[in-house]
Amino acid sequence: MALPLSASAFRAAIKGAGVTVVEVGNWTRHNRNHKGPWGPMRGVMIHHTVTSGTAHSVDLCRRGHATLPGPLCHGVIDKSGRVHLVGYGRANHAGLGDGDVLAAVTAERSPLPADNEADADGNRYFYGFECVNMGDGEDPWPQVQVEAIARAAAGICRAHGWGAESVIGHMEWQPGKIDPRGPIGHRSGPALTMAKIRARVEQLLDDDTPSKPKPPKPPVDLSRLVAAARTDPAKPGAPVSYAGARIVEDALAAEGLLAKKYADGHFGTQTKAAYRAWQRRCGYSGTDADGIPGRDSLAALGRAHGFTVTA
Ligand SMILES: [Zn+2]
Repeated sequence: MALPLSASAFRAAIKGAGVTVVEVGNWTRHNRNHKGPWGPMRGVMIHHTVTSGTAHSVDLCRRGHATLPGPLCHGVIDKSGRVHLVGYGRANHAGLGDGDVLAAVTAERSPLPADNEADADGNRYFYGFECVNMGDGEDPWPQVQVEAIARAAAGICRAHGWGAESVIGHMEWQPGKIDPRGPIGHRSGPALTMAKIRARVEQLLDDDTPSKPKPPKPPVDLSRLVAAARTDPAKPGAPVSYAGARIVEDALAAEGLLAKKYADGHFGTQTKAAYRAWQRRCGYSGTDADGIPGRDSLAALGRAHGFTVTA
């Protein structure tokens, strides 16, 4: 019997997997437990929101809507890889799904049978993550978001002693569902699949002590980076005023936001545009997404690409 983790153990499981957690309102007590049972737990389910923008998506998943009251999941995973905890307990995310799939997930048997029945109460048995994506098959999934999905799921699996086979997509559970889907990284990137997510979860579970740790990158100095972002674009040629800009450019290139040829240490117009795209991905808009690095967006980029930020 896998009793549900306590709310604090759930939060610790995600944080312990290296994912940034944002706690929203009274999430530990916000649930649908008055409508039906919660637990025993059988697995983790991944969804896409069919929305854009972090604030709007988080709010919707917390409150729900007229025909489907919230919470609509436990955690919302935004495009910068943070998990926003919106509810804990029974939540309206999984609906009725296939009992044969439930049996297979419980036994961690693969491949999963086809989900052609709707006879089992998914909201009872699954932890649910809604991940910010339009779900139109075109909206790209940033690498940092895909990694956060795998890490959050792996953290919960580790806490329960489960393997990667305990992680499924809504599309594998309920007839007619298509989530999650879309390209990874950029519009023409490879498709996100549950097989890829499970493979990464398995790696993370195996990999408690990475055998070949990468050499640490030097920290990025925020004030020197900001100075470069303010002055470099206007300079002729491509002079490097702060070498740390290259670390940030490499991360932006890995996110598919900057062409590799512009990762040259010069914080020029292209880099500024790429940084603006990163800020939007982090949920900023208007003058908050101006291409001049701020502490929070830079820290998020650093978490995903292995550098720290100093003032
Ligand atoms: Zn779904």
